[in-house]
This record gives sequence, C-alpha cells and structure tokens, in this order.
Amino acid sequence: MEFSSRWRQKHARLAGDRREQYPHSLQFYLEPPTESISLVEFESFAIDRLKLLKVVENLGVSYARGTDLYKTKLETELRKLKFPYRALAEDDYEARRKDHISHFILRLAYCQSEDLRRWFLQQEMDLFRYRFNELTEYLMQKFLEHVNLSFEAIGEDLKNELANELSTSTPGFNMSKVKEQMFYKVGLADAVDLFRARRVFIKDGFAYVPFKEIDVLVLNNYRTKLSKALALTARSLPSIQSDERLQPLLSHLSHSYVGPDYSVQKNTGKISLEQIDALSVKSFPLCMRQLHRALRDSHHLRHGGRMQYGLFLKGIGLTLEQALEFWKKEFIRGKVDADKFDKGYAYSIRHNYGKEGKRTDYTPYSCMKIIMSNPPSQGDYHGCPFRHSDPELLKQKLQSYRIPPSGITQILELVKGMHYQLACQKYFELTHDVDDIGFSLNHPNQYFTESQKLLSGGRELKKEFNNSGNFQQKHNSQESINSRSTPTSSNATADTELEGLEAYFTED
Ligand code: SF4
Repeated sequence: MEFSSRWRQKHARLAGDRREQYPHSLQFYLEPPTESISLVEFESFAIDRLKLLKVVENLGVSYARGTDLYKTKLETELRKLKFPYRALAEDDYEARRKDHISHFILRLAYCQSEDLRRWFLQQEMDLFRYRFNELTEYLMQKFLEHVNLSFEAIGEDLKNELANELSTSTPGFNMSKVKEQMFYKVGLADAVDLFRARRVFIKDGFAYVPFKEIDVLVLNNYRTKLSKALALTARSLPSIQSDERLQPLLSHLSHSYVGPDYSVQKNTGKISLEQIDALSVKSFPLCMRQLHRALRDSHHLRHGGRMQYGLFLKGIGLTLEQALEFWKKEFIRGKVDADKFDKGYAYSIRHNYGKEGKRTDYTPYSCMKIIMSNPPSQGDYHGCPFRHSDPELLKQKLQSYRIPPSGITQILELVKGMHYQLACQKYFELTHDVDDIGFSLNHPNQYFTESQKLLSGGRELKKEFNNSGNFQQKHNSQESINSRSTPTSSNATADTELEGLEAYFTED
C-alpha cells in the first residue's frame, strides 16, 4: 500500500505529537517549540500568522474592537487560516500547534527593532484580547489556573459585607449585579489600570475586581511577559544572524510583502510617456507622486529614488525603451549631458530591466520594503512619506493636494499610531472619493492598479471590508536573489528540518 508524502508527513507528526502541550486553545506562549519542523512548514506558518496579524491591525483601525462585526471578521480569518477560532472546538491540535509555532517564528522576526517589536506586541495583544473574551467563564477560569493567574474570588459573606461599596465604586454595577457577579481580591500592583480609571473598589491595599474586568488584568500580565520575552529574544539576535538558514528568512518576514510582485505586467507598453504627469496626480500613491514631482522639478533623482521610482514605472508598464527615453529627457534638462547619461545612468536602467549584470529582472518595491529599509537622507525623495516625512511637512503636502482637513487629521492619527499603509489607504479613499478602499494595501503598484480599475469603472466598489487581500507567498526580487542561497519554500524540500528552535529563546 502506497501512502502519499502528505499522509506520511501528517501521521509521522501525529505519532510524536504533543497534545498535552496544548490543553487550551489560548496560551501565553511561555514555552518555545522544541520539535523539528520542515522549512516549508516554518515559512507557511509564519506567512499565515503575518496575514492574520495584518488583518488584526486593519480591523483594529476600521472597527471598534469587540463589536459584532469586528468579532465576526476576525473569526472568519482565523477559521480560513486554520488557527484556533473557537475555544470549545474539539481536537484542534493542528491549529493549536500552528498557533504556537507561528507565534514564536514571528517573535524571532519581529524582535529585531523597536518599531517591529511595538507592532508585533500591539497585534498580538489585540488577538489575545479577542480570544480571551470569546472564552466561556468556565474556560476563562481554567485558563487562569493554567497560567498561574488564579485570583482569589471573595466569598459570599465578604461580598455581602462590601456590597454597598462594590456597587458604588464599580461602574455599571447595581446591588443585584453585585450579587450575580464574582469579585476577585487582587493586589493593587496587578490592577493599576483599573484603579487609575476608578473602575474598582479599593480597600487595605487590595482591589476588588468584578469578573467582567478580569481581562484587563490578564492582558496586562500578558503584555509584561511578551515585552520581556521580545527583549530577551532580541538579545539572541547575533546567534540568529549567524544562522544562514534562518536569517534571510526572518529578515524577509519582517520586511515581508506577501502579494503579487508586479514583475509581469499585462499592460507593458500600453502607457505613453505623455500620460505620466496626469497619472502621477490621479493614480500614483504619495511616495511615487513625490518622486515624480521631485524629478520634474530638479531633473534628477539620487540612486534610492531612481531605483524606487524606476521599478515602479516598470511595474505599471513602461518598456525599457520608454524608460530610457523618459529618464534621459528629464536628466538632460538638468546638469547631466546626453553622453554622461548614456555612459552612466542608462546602464542602471537596463540593469533594472535585467539586461545588464546578473540579468536579474528586478521587481518593484513593496510598501514594507520601502517603509522598513534604506530611509531617505537629506536631498533624497525616496521612502514612504507616511513613514519618513515630518508630520508637519506631510500635513502641508496633503493640504497642497487639497485633502480636506478632517481627512488630514485622520491620516495624521494613523501615522501617529504607525499605521503607515492604513494612512495611505485613507489617502486613496480621499483622493478617489470612496468610503472604503476595498482591499488591503501592500504595494505601490497595487495602489496604481486598483486606482486605474476604479477610475475606468472596472472594479465594483466594495463597501464591505475585504481583509483577505491577495496574499501569495512571494518575495521581492531583491530578496529572492538572496534566497537563492537560502533554503526557503522555493528551494527547500519538505524533509529539510529545522531543529532546536528553542535555542533562540533562552535567556542568555
Ligand atoms: Fe507608497 Fe506604500 Fe507608503 Fe503608500 S504606504 S506611500 S504605497 S510606500
């Protein structure tokens, strides 16, 4: 009898599985995974969790947390990506395992800078909050015991004795509600937030916390643990960076764009050079609009700008011949003469089109790549204006583009919360006069394509929020150059295994 490799893989894993490791659908992720895992699984788990966290981020700014719509959309995503979505679902070992391992992989990828740590922590906290609040009271109790957070429930006698104080000091609690709910006696240090917000009764150095507020304590505890764990993981960075299998993979993940690479355009050659000025106003994202303006004004762009803008133009359909003509016409209006252009700059344009050097057909940069790498210096125009511009300058720029004041306020709020791509989505909505962008923005060329579809009436306006995006397991071309020497899913076999993942999470 023949078994497929998928069957063998599944059953081999089940034979050595660790069901007892996951008694609950929810966890504090205190113990790193110790099993061996194939590189293929490693990458697919990581990408799925990244998709999930991006959805969590999007939902967090689009809907009030805890509303029915928020919960339904998050559950749908969890279900689709095969993460545990119902506390009561039986035998979801595979989902729990995926949840556990993927959390630790992203922890490795996202411990690498302060910005990444903050982003990861925020999304994991939101995810945890949703999941904890979905538990039944019984399962919450079981979970609290499991993570050694068993707060002491006060007895009926003490509750009756304090009933008046509990009712007057706990917002939303009348006497009958006090009788119904369980109260916990908690040390003040654990209930600082509730105490500050005057939401609990305090006596003799203890806070009396109703069951419905217990999530605040649990979340505080989880936040402390996860921040500490991220800081400790960051300390093991040197050993991660020396691991040639992991380092490129983790670096891809933290810069990760998981959508189409826009390297092949069906509209190649369909855009004329004369259209670019108008398109830059109507359909370019702010980063490219800024680069185009700078090029027209100063007849020059430095290397970072030429790469970012040149590859974007290639992605929207400029042929090599058009690109050479476009750049040359502009540069010779400045300080570069035709001869110098042909000898110097033309080479790098042909290089971007894969006609020189290693003949790599370079792909346009994704938002994550633009946001996370090569920040612009003085005199540069590349980068993401939502990430790299001074907020006051950004505000002026948006005003000059006639974005209404309320829209500017919304954009600046998103920027302040470091939601740069969401700020860009808002810019899209305001400049295209739509209520809801209807896609999850990850790439400047995606912005262009969606804008063109919309302006030409080719896309039906979706009022419903669509979180699914168009994720695919692809990396940016520059990244895939590195990955040639790296065992990622494209070149790894299922039986290549990663062992000893836990070594990266030890305290030293
Ligand atoms: Fe460009 Fe992306 Fe920034 Fe928008 S979010 S400005 S598309 S880099």
